[in-house]
Formats: sequence, structure tokens, C-alpha cells
Amino acid sequence: MLISGINAHICDRCVDQAQLIVAEEQKLKQKSKLPSFKLLKPSEIKHHLDQYVIGQEEAKKVLSVAVYNHYKRISVASSSTSHADENDVELEKSNIVLVGETGTGKTLMARTIAKMLQVPFCIADATVLTEAGYVGEDVESILSRLLQVADYDVASAERGIVFIDEVDKIARKSDNPSITRDVSGEGVQQALLKILEGAIVSVPPQGGRKHPEQKMVQINTQNILFICGGAFDGIEKRIASRLQANAIGYNVSKDKQSIDKDNMLQYIAPQDLKSYGLIPELVGRLPVLSFLNPLDKVALRRILTEPKNALVKQYIKLFELDGIKLKIDDEVYDFIVDKAVEFKLGARGLRSICELIMLDAMFDAPSEKSEKNIHITLEYAQRQLKINNLGRLKVA
Ligand code: ADP
Repeated sequence: MLISGINAHICDRCVDQAQLIVAEEQKLKQKSKLPSFKLLKPSEIKHHLDQYVIGQEEAKKVLSVAVYNHYKRISVASSSTSHADENDVELEKSNIVLVGETGTGKTLMARTIAKMLQVPFCIADATVLTEAGYVGEDVESILSRLLQVADYDVASAERGIVFIDEVDKIARKSDNPSITRDVSGEGVQQALLKILEGAIVSVPPQGGRKHPEQKMVQINTQNILFICGGAFDGIEKRIASRLQANAIGYNVSKDKQSIDKDNMLQYIAPQDLKSYGLIPELVGRLPVLSFLNPLDKVALRRILTEPKNALVKQYIKLFELDGIKLKIDDEVYDFIVDKAVEFKLGARGLRSICELIMLDAMFDAPSEKSEKNIHITLEYAQRQLKINNLGRLKVA
């Protein structure tokens, strides 16, 4: 049989042969792709995180171990497919939940890990998710994104890591069941259960519902690691009341003394997530729980100058590209940190304050011919903030 193209023909035998060649090539490609990653040790992963994230030792440790175990699990999974042993211990994943105030480095940590990883990684936002059939995105869209990151290679997407941000926003909205459905809260949690635990999910490769004609792709989520992050605003009160409730007995006074009231998050336990509005099934599927510390002045000061891409280093580089040498006095750093704390701006505020201080210098410097050095003194910084009206950044 001859199949005709525009100006050529091909016979059925040639088609068969060509198909074999293509299949052979694809197999080779898959083989070279699979176990190609290097097993990074937990301490190596943490060392990498240390370069970018200040403090948060506990969370960094938990993440490093989780990622290391993830690598081990997928390397076992890809090697044992050929000789499956009945007695083999099956390694199950432990999804993680990170709790910490906004701006303490949850997303930063996820991003930093992503850069280092040799598996596909994506960050998804839980606030846009709704129950299937309602306006918003389906839970499966998270996997569409992972698939896109993996270049539509299903096998590699199935070994990926997903960071779900703002997971506290899908907490159950109220305790009393009302007539209206809680489509962005409990409904989403129910939908997430299946994906978190490990199931074969039909995923629209383009994401969303705008392409109803697209063919679904089956993804097995058994080996996908999920890391959830959330601020869980106000959860401290629940932790405190639990600790209070438990503080009945002979050792009460001793226990009470050792509680650090400024950082209640460190006592967080799964039941607090439950009382915040996560359903017990979901909490059960997130067995590793860790927390991030609030940032104090010392931490903020370090964030300003120490990380590999610290703000100060970025400004120096920006000016350097124009051939200008930037010098900032030490007192200016303390001043910036003080203002960030005073206005309750947190780590994110450091950037806004720096921008205000640097604005005029960045505006004028490139067009000035003679000036090749810029020196930021405390007086200059104070004056700039006054001119640029720092007050408007203030958080009420
Ligand atoms: P969130 O916890 O709300 O996800 P982010 O990780 O987005 O907060 O943090 C916001 C910004 O604050 C980051 O881009 C980073 O510049 C800075 N930052 C916050 N915490 C830290 C930290 N521990 N070390 C270094 N930078 C930090």
C-alpha cells in the first residue's frame, strides 16, 4: 500500500520500519534520562539552603531529609521495576507541611531547593483552587503545571516535587454545616486527599478547562512529594489554649515556665491544624510538620547582607554594571532593620525601604559623568526616607 503525501509516497513496509526506529530511539532516550541524578546528602542539601536562607534551622533540616529520602525512594522505584521482589520493603513518601508567618522564608526555601533539584519542581497556589465544577482551578491543575515543568515527560513528572503555597486558605470556612457548599475550602481538601496519597489522576496537559478537546494524561502521584506551606494566621491562640488545657497536673508550674510565649509556633502539633480547619484525613496525609521562626532584628540584619543574593549585594551589583562603586555604612543597615521592625514590614519590607533610600541615587547616578563613587551614610538614608515619605509603608 502506498500512502501519498504532498509530493512523495511512502509504502506500508517503510512506515512499519520507521515506527520501529522511532520506538527504539525513544526507549534509548528514556533510559538515559531515568536514574541520572546524583544522590545529594541531607547535609549537602542543607548547606545549599544555608547560603540563601537565614536561620530556620529546624525547617531546613526537615526539608533536607525529606528531599534526600525522596531521591532515595525514586531511585529504588526506578531500579526495582525490572526485578520486583515480593519481600521488598515499599518506601512510602512523607508529605510535609511548613507553618510560619508570612515573609519568614517558606517560598524562598522552596525556590532555593527547586534550583538545586534534579527533578521537576513547581509551586502551586492553593487560593485559586476550587472543587471540581466551580469557577476557579481544579486540583488537577497542580499536576498540569508539574507536567509542563517536566516538558510533558510523564515519567519524570511522576518523580517530581510540588510546593503548595497558602494551604491555610483552604481551611474549612466554618464549623457549622450550612446550606451553601464550602467549595474553596473543604471541597478542595477532599479533592487534594486523593492526589496527596498517591493515585492515578487524569490531568489535562494544558491545564484549566478552556481546552475541553484536549486528551487527558494519566499521572501516578505515588512518588510525587508534596510540600505544603501556610501562615495559619491566629493559630498561636489555638496552640496556647491547647497547652493551657493540658497544663493540669503536678508539673504545671514547671511546664508553664518553659513555654516561650513569643514563639508559640514551635509547639505546633497536628491537632492544631485540625482545629484550624484542615480535615483530619488531610492532616494525616501530611505527616511531617515543621515550623518557621518569626524573624527578629538580628535575623533581619543578616538577611540584608549575608545570603548569596542579599539585597545589599544586589544593589552593589546593579551600580557596578554602571561602573559605579557603592558604599553603605554599617549604621545604615541597623537603621533599615529598625524601620522594618518599627513598621512591622518583616523581611519583605527591607526591599521597600532600600528602594526608597536608593531611588534618587539610582535615578541620578547613571547620567552623571564624573561621580563614580556613591557613599550612603546614615544622614543620607534618614533624609531620603523623610523625602520619600516612608510613613506610607506603615502597616496599620
Ligand atoms: P513566605 O514565608 O510568606 O513565603 P517568602 O519566602 O516569600 O515568605 O519571603 C519573602 C522575602 O523575604 C524573600 O524573598 C526573602 O528575600 C526574604 N526572606 C524571608 N525570610 C528569609 C530568610 N529566612 N532568609 C533570607 N531571606 C528571607
